[in-house]
Amino acid sequence: MGNSELILIGRQMKCEQAKRKLVAYLDGELRERERLQIKKHLSQCAACRGEADRLQKTARFLKAQEHVMPRVDFETRLWERIQRVEDRQLSPQVVFERLGRAIVPVAVALSLIVGIIVGDLVGNITLSPPGTSQEEAYAIAIGLDNFQDSPPGSLSEVYLTLATTKEAKNQ
Ligand SMILES: [Zn+2]
Repeated sequence: MGNSELILIGRQMKCEQAKRKLVAYLDGELRERERLQIKKHLSQCAACRGEADRLQKTARFLKAQEHVMPRVDFETRLWERIQRVEDRQLSPQVVFERLGRAIVPVAVALSLIVGIIVGDLVGNITLSPPGTSQEEAYAIAIGLDNFQDSPPGSLSEVYLTLATTKEAKNQ
């Protein structure tokens, strides 16, 4: 290292100049002479040191984000998956199936709603006009005739359908 270089490095660098080159400095893109100038300035200037620190933290943060960033279609796939699970649990076929076995409730959680459904079912079957087949009565009683028009939804929707069906029939 010659004398002229030492003089250059020793020259007080203005903050404005230093900050302009901070990113390049942190990325290791500066030529040796500039790198040393910045390094020297940072050792003497708390303000620029703070700025360099902030930049470094931001860069580290962004790099970390790249690793955990979900795929672009993550949300779509998530909702599709949720939908599939709901369909499996609440499709008309499954509801029908559960009603068929409702005399022996399988779970405490299910027993409440099943109890209500069976109550509806028995009441409605009794009220069904003569000549209606057992299956038709079933479908009407649990609201499957309406239900098929709307996509399989939440338990509350099934509830609502049942409630509406019952109310309509009682009027
Ligand atoms: Zn400075």
